[in-house]
Parts: sequence; structure tokens; C-alpha cells
Amino acid sequence: MSAMSMYDYSLICNFPKCRGRLSGFAWVTACSHIFCDRHGSGEFSRTPAICPACSSALSGKLDIVRTELAPSEQYKAMVLVGLRPETVLDISHRALAFWTYQVNQERLLMEYSLSRAEVQVGQMEKVMAQQNQSKEHELNAMREEIASLNKRLEEYKRKYSEVSELLVKRNRQYQKLQGLFETLRLRTMEASDKDGPNQAAHVFPSGIIRQRSPHTTPPFLAVGPEGDKLFHSVLEPESFKSFFQFSSPPREKGHSFIKKN
Ligand SMILES: [Zn+2]
Ligand SMILES: [Zn+2]
Repeated sequence: MSAMSMYDYSLICNFPKCRGRLSGFAWVTACSHIFCDRHGSGEFSRTPAICPACSSALSGKLDIVRTELAPSEQYKAMVLVGLRPETVLDISHRALAFWTYQVNQERLLMEYSLSRAEVQVGQMEKVMAQQNQSKEHELNAMREEIASLNKRLEEYKRKYSEVSELLVKRNRQYQKLQGLFETLRLRTMEASDKDGPNQAAHVFPSGIIRQRSPHTTPPFLAVGPEGDKLFHSVLEPESFKSFFQFSSPPREKGHSFIKKN
């Protein structure tokens, strides 16, 4: 403790619920306790007076003294004057012993508070450790769940890539088939271009071609009901005539036109 704080230090009211820093006037007892003016005047107005700190009976004439903590210069100049040196020293010695006792008591109280706080801190640490442990357990469970979910995700990814590969393979097969189908269709069309019109000319108008057409046309060439209708409408006698007019030489057409005029 430095000299400065030694000067700043003041005793504390021994009333259990007060513990206020003392200044001005204080009440001191023969049992070495000290109280603030409020608690001293309150507690020691009753008879018999009992120390609120240690329950000692204070019945003597000088067992309780109200004292000024910062006495005036005049008081300090007069209070011990005329006393023998050993008496002066004795009084000083007792006053210092009182002060030492008070400071010591305060230190003990502080130590007690500190140890209680340490116990509380220890308990809190224990609780925190338990909480941490349970959180750690939760975290581990979550980590395990994440790991299993990741595993499932990997499985799904693997399955997806397998399916993708299969799809690519199937696509390639499909394109191959499509190419094959195209060449087949072209070949069939070429074949029907060679034979088709001649046969139709031969058979017409017996109507056999209507029965023949489903046989000569492969099922994959079917263009649906509307295409069929168009095909048949071309084969009607009137439209058949107009259909073949396109192939007739334009000169003849022009000739007849001129002839008409
Ligand atoms: Zn007090
Ligand atoms: Zn006491």
C-alpha cells in the first residue's frame, strides 16, 4: 500500500448491511468496532446497548464514544497535552492497535468474499464445462449427420453420373437408329418414285391402289390421317387429272389458251 492510498484509506462501518466508508463523525466501541453516525446513533440510543457487530454488551461509561475522524487543529493541539510521554504513547499504541485490527478484519472479510467468489466461479466453470460437453455431443451428432448426408449425396451423384452415361449411350444409339431410319426412308422413297406412278397409272381407276398403298408404304412412313386424306384426294379422278396436268408440257397448255382466243 503506497503512502498516498494509506492517507486515502478510511475505515468501513461495521454494521453488516451498511459497510459505508466512514467520514465526519463515527462511533467506536470497547469491543473494537466502529459505526457510521447514522447506525451508531440508532443502535446505541437503546439501553442496554449491544454491539451490532459482535453482540457485546456495552454498559460502561466509556464503552461507546462518538469521535470526530478529522479533528480540528485546536483539538489536536489540546487533547493529549499535559499527559506523560508513556501515557501519550500508550494512547497512541491503543489507537493504532484499533486501526490495525479494523484493517485486518477488512482484509479477512475480503479474503472470505474472494474465496466465496472463487467457489462460485468454480461452480460456474463446472456448469459451463457440462454445457460445453453437451454442446460438443450435439455438435458431434450434427457432424455425423452431415457426414451421412454427404455420403448419400455422393451416392446420388454417382447414380446420376451412371444414369447420365447411360442416357448418352442411349442417345447415341437413338441417333444411329435415326440415321438408319433416314437412309431406309430415302431408299424406300427412291424405290416408290420409280415404281409408284407407273403402278398407279396401270391400276387406275380400278381402285386397287387403295388397297395396295398400305402394303407398299412402310408403317414408319405413315404421315397420319391428314396425310392419308391428301394422298387419297390426289387419287380421286378429278384431282388425279389436275395432278398430272402439272407434268404435261406447258406448250400444249399455252397452245390451247391461244386457240381459245
Ligand atoms: Zn453504517
Ligand atoms: Zn463489537
